[in-house]
Amino acid sequence: MARVVCACHLPIHCFIEQSMNISAGENAVQWLFLDINSYFASCEQQESPALRGKPIIIVQTVTDSACAIAASYEAKRLGIKTGTLVREAKQICRDVIPVKARHRLYTDYHEKILEAVDTCLPIEKVMSIDEMACRLMGRERQVPVARELALKVKRALREQVGECLTCSIGLAPNIFLGKVGSDIQKPDGLVVITKDNLPDVLLELKLQKIYGIGSRMEQRLNHAGIYSVADLWQASSAHLRRVWGGINGLLFYQMLHGVDIQPPSSSHTKSMGHQHVLEPELRTNQGARNFAHHLLAKAAERLRRNDYYCRRLGLSLSWIGHQGGWWDDIGFHETCDTGFLLARLENLWARLPPFKPLAVGVVLLGLVPASKHQGDLFAINPRQQKLSPLIDQINRRYGRNAIGFGLLPPTVTGFKGHAAFQRVPEAWEF
Ligand SMILES: [Mg+2]
Repeated sequence: MARVVCACHLPIHCFIEQSMNISAGENAVQWLFLDINSYFASCEQQESPALRGKPIIIVQTVTDSACAIAASYEAKRLGIKTGTLVREAKQICRDVIPVKARHRLYTDYHEKILEAVDTCLPIEKVMSIDEMACRLMGRERQVPVARELALKVKRALREQVGECLTCSIGLAPNIFLGKVGSDIQKPDGLVVITKDNLPDVLLELKLQKIYGIGSRMEQRLNHAGIYSVADLWQASSAHLRRVWGGINGLLFYQMLHGVDIQPPSSSHTKSMGHQHVLEPELRTNQGARNFAHHLLAKAAERLRRNDYYCRRLGLSLSWIGHQGGWWDDIGFHETCDTGFLLARLENLWARLPPFKPLAVGVVLLGLVPASKHQGDLFAINPRQQKLSPLIDQINRRYGRNAIGFGLLPPTVTGFKGHAAFQRVPEAWEF
């Protein structure tokens, strides 16, 4: 039985040969899961040949206090990672290059990647801006055929999107194991997981390398006597059910053991929000407040576009020179009205301590689909509710920020959509 080793130093074909020493029975792998390596940084290196082969980090603003939202593999090898401050990255490597994020570019590349993959296989699920899953059918489920397809996808990305866009692919009996597999070897990996090489293929991994296990879940597993992937594999479904506190433990057990079921849906939207590290000139109470208004107007527009109402508004801030951040939220009857939400934001703002802001975020919580919306019998001015959709219509026709609630300074209105890893912005957001 083959053992997949962490073989990042090996050329990919050697690695494939190692991991391919497994039986190629019918229906051995049912999914191809693809994860683009260092996505934002790879897009920038593709765009600018001068950045290739160099340690680069992607930042919202090019200042020492900004933190990396992505890092190239050259930077990762030095120990620089997502979350590292620019200042710390420069201490690690004097030559590190901070690059200002271009979210529209990442969204455009996302479209190109989907097109390129689609020339090889239909994409069944887009999981995030740099992850997608294709269901394999018939002969494609045989390991050698699936492996050829994976190599074809890699070639299509290189030829149709760009040589810097490499990916790690997991071939597996379900999406969950495909994702785990794509995480085992980076960059440019290809790992095969079948019922025949389970659990050996996973045994060397740390618990947190298994998708769905974060630090808190690891603690809960430890409390239940599970300290390694081997322990996890041997745990009964009833035991995992107790650890998870419900059906998710049973689903996790089944996915880990190769049953072709989908991870619990995260498509049920629970919140919508935006956050932003402020440009230096906006790091005042007034600057942050204007920006928070802008972020909230954007979030509320997204809420209406997706046919939702919300029941809570949260505000978060972080400060220069202070660890941690500040968070508060406020509840109300279901609404999607920008004017109403801006007034609640003012209520929250009045509670702020007097520190110099560094980053600001707003989030809409307690989302209710429009189909389940219950009108407020005591609404004072129902006509006001019609104002927001009207403003959306005007902005759609004449461009974003053609009209809005109150006046925003030009630096703020220049803010564009953000390509968060979990969410691909739509064209209208730019
Ligand atoms: Mg990735």
